[in-house]
Amino acid sequence: MIVLGVESSCDETGLALYDTQHGLLSHALYSQVAMHEEYGGVVPELASRDHIRRAIPLLTQTLEGAGKSLADIDAIAYTQGPGLAGALLVGSSVACSLGLALDKPVLGVHHLEGHLLSPLLASQPPEFPFIALLVSGGHTQLMRVDGVGQYTLLGETLDDAAGEAFDKSAKLLGLGYPGGPAISRLAEFGDPTAYKLPRPMLHTKDFNFSFSGLKTAVLTVVKNHEEKVIANICEQDKANIARGFVDAIVDVLTAKCVSALKHTGLKRLVIAGGVGANSQLRASLNAAAAKKKFKVYYPELEFCTDNGAMIAFAGAMRLMINPDAAKKDYSFNVRPRWPLDEIKVV
Ligand code: ATP
Ligand code: MG
Ligand code: FE
Repeated sequence: MIVLGVESSCDETGLALYDTQHGLLSHALYSQVAMHEEYGGVVPELASRDHIRRAIPLLTQTLEGAGKSLADIDAIAYTQGPGLAGALLVGSSVACSLGLALDKPVLGVHHLEGHLLSPLLASQPPEFPFIALLVSGGHTQLMRVDGVGQYTLLGETLDDAAGEAFDKSAKLLGLGYPGGPAISRLAEFGDPTAYKLPRPMLHTKDFNFSFSGLKTAVLTVVKNHEEKVIANICEQDKANIARGFVDAIVDVLTAKCVSALKHTGLKRLVIAGGVGANSQLRASLNAAAAKKKFKVYYPELEFCTDNGAMIAFAGAMRLMINPDAAKKDYSFNVRPRWPLDEIKVV
């Protein structure tokens, strides 16, 4: 069975073909980052309009990449939510009208389920059950995953998401949008002893996070600096502040993962979402895994941030368990807000 995946929840348009026998056949992605950069964040209306421009050319590219035609598609999975309403509507209408035209069933997929299952696309996928740390631009959650659709939320952020903390702190350091990768690169050159920033909720016994104070701590460091404004602070000191921030957030994320593993007795940890691409986080988790004797799994770097492959894959996983999960019902209803634990077991 060949499943077409369509992702358009935020500022990436992603299309992919996943074959339940042969795996991922091809995928194509367009990131709107350059367009939103000058506004310092995603502009929803511009995002929707650009998804419209990109969707069909990316579909053609995906089919060509796989050497397939529209007639080879057996089912279509699309991101139904959560995300920006207008952006979701574009992918949903493309998917449902294609389904109608081709007389193929369609299936709405939860974007976070896509992220969560993306490490299973790797060559050595983890087995269920596992602990998942989902660290993206909009979410920070620790979950126990017992199978497809079997997600138990252990804890989550009480305020900013990890990706948001990276982006906001990067902005305070005068780095572009999205600032996650930039602040991470800068931190490589920083002195870890120069600025010790707070580690929010490190010692609470729950699995929740809080990152808004960390961003405020970065702001305070800049304000109290003798230069007062970031533009005047020398590169080395900027790197030192970046290092202080990255070390703090990585410490908290690592510690909470370790305690979730200990609490559940599980030995497998899966990382998903854009911040999962972060090299310092990966190094810290790998060190903890070696010390505490657990295994840690990551998505391929290109599948950490939004993409169509994870949506095609999540759809295919659901269809393998229940072929009736996709329907020839082409009316659609996007869900901009949609808690993951509301989705049904297949
Ligand atoms: P959600 O999935 O919660 O709706 P999203 O789709 O916008 O949010 P992702 O695409 O998974 O989020 O991830 C984007 C985030 O990942 C951004 O905040 C970005 O800064 C961050 N990010 C990407 N690469 C890195 C990196 N190397 N280091 C730190 N952060 C990173
Ligand atoms: Mg994005
Ligand atoms: Fe995402």
